[in-house]
Amino acid sequence: MRSYSADYIYPIARPPIRRGIVTVDDSGTVIGVQDPAAADFVAPAAPPEWYDGVLIPGFVNAHCHLELSHLRGVSATGKTLLPFLVDVVTLREVDQTEIEQAIVEQDRQMWERGIQAVGDICNKADTAAVKRNSPITYYSFVEMFDFLQPERARASYDIYLPAYAAQPEPKSAVPHAPYTVSDALYPLINHLNTGSETVSIHNQETPAEDLLFETGSSPFAEFFAGFGASLASFSAPGTPSIFHALQRMDPSKRTLFVHNTLTTEAAILAAQAWGGKRHLLGHLPQR
Ligand SMILES: [Zn+2]
Repeated sequence: MRSYSADYIYPIARPPIRRGIVTVDDSGTVIGVQDPAAADFVAPAAPPEWYDGVLIPGFVNAHCHLELSHLRGVSATGKTLLPFLVDVVTLREVDQTEIEQAIVEQDRQMWERGIQAVGDICNKADTAAVKRNSPITYYSFVEMFDFLQPERARASYDIYLPAYAAQPEPKSAVPHAPYTVSDALYPLINHLNTGSETVSIHNQETPAEDLLFETGSSPFAEFFAGFGASLASFSAPGTPSIFHALQRMDPSKRTLFVHNTLTTEAAILAAQAWGGKRHLLGHLPQR
């Protein structure tokens, strides 16, 4: 058993601790984080090893696409979301060995950089074997989408079902984003989550997304056309996209909203009213 101390310990799950002490067992597992100022403080047998600065016992990567590791650096930076998504969809199919090697490498790098737990979005089964053997704790969000085409909902679901079956527990089925999931696909996704799953959805990432839901007219029309999809069966609700998704997702599930670059205070309050304050809104804008 060894213990470590620093100017501040950031346990992440609670506020920073000044001159806190982290205790680690012989296998390297963190077994305790103590505040020397707390009434129940028990001093370690030997003085802790001191580090100037800050110690963080473990990072959580709440949103990862491990199966896209081979695309690192492939799409040029500085693009807006839609051209980036075209790159992801059109450039992701490469030699399977290259895909699998990149998954192994990025899993290793995350662990070496202190990431203990990962919420991982997956459309395929490519990452399942690595997750089973990784020291990282993974939660797999098996993501489904049909480009808002209700007639494609069942076929899309059937494509993603084997990926869902192959991924290790814990896992859930999740909608990709408000702008890619039809009314026919939401119930199929919800139906797979029969327990106390956490789900995730990409939310309000680009102005074009809210524009589509508020007006029905948006650069998304051209984006969809590129994939042979039309917006003919979509009727815009006249609200930002998150409100549309909330009506179709299950409020009893803990929900991780991802990106939220355009999410307003009113939408945050609506999400909390919808399912309670356990929901998490990542990457909140400064406003
Ligand atoms: Zn994502």
